[in-house]
Amino acid sequence: MRLIILGGPGAGKGTQGQRLCQALNIPCIATGQVFRTAIAEKTPLGCKAAPYVERGDLVPDELAIEFMRDRLTQADTSNGWLLDGYPRTAFQAEELNFLLEDLRQTLDWAIWLDAPVAMMMERSLARSRDDDAPEIVRRRLDLFHQRTIPIVEFYEMRDRLLRIDASLDADTVHADVLAQVNATQNG
Ligand code: ADP
Repeated sequence: MRLIILGGPGAGKGTQGQRLCQALNIPCIATGQVFRTAIAEKTPLGCKAAPYVERGDLVPDELAIEFMRDRLTQADTSNGWLLDGYPRTAFQAEELNFLLEDLRQTLDWAIWLDAPVAMMMERSLARSRDDDAPEIVRRRLDLFHQRTIPIVEFYEMRDRLLRIDASLDADTVHADVLAQVNATQNG
């Protein structure tokens, strides 16, 4: 199974992504997490990503795309994966299509965790990570609307979108996602 999970900051991508990967036994590739770890460890990727992540901006597309090209050619991804945080721009979505063509893989579903803005704001502020300060969260929410919502439309037009009500509790959201993924797989 090859899945991407879309949603704004605080929509529950991290929580739902991890639970889904466990349930389906596929690796979870969370770019935000990858960048944060790389920054903490001061790796070359981390040094390049740091100034962007710290102010709530997206890292340049080239950097994100290069990372993903590397990551999806590693052995553990040959039987499936879930991407959390990628693609985040229309350009990344198109590049992912090209990459999958090269790798002769197909995306099963883009799962959109749809939650009201006020709820995403509240949940993000409750986490208190370095990049979860109010003005930075606001920046990330703006970027989500400007840059990531067009990707939702990109997958919707290709009949690859599953829309999930992410305002419900985590267990219900998880059950809904699994039910939709399984229903579409069997049908
Ligand atoms: P969020 O809670 O906003 O969904 P993430 O943990 O997914 O945050 O990402 C944290 C940060 O990492 C983003 O604010 C951005 O700077 C960077 N980032 C993650 N994925 C990407 C990507 N695909 N393209 C560009 N920047 C990214």
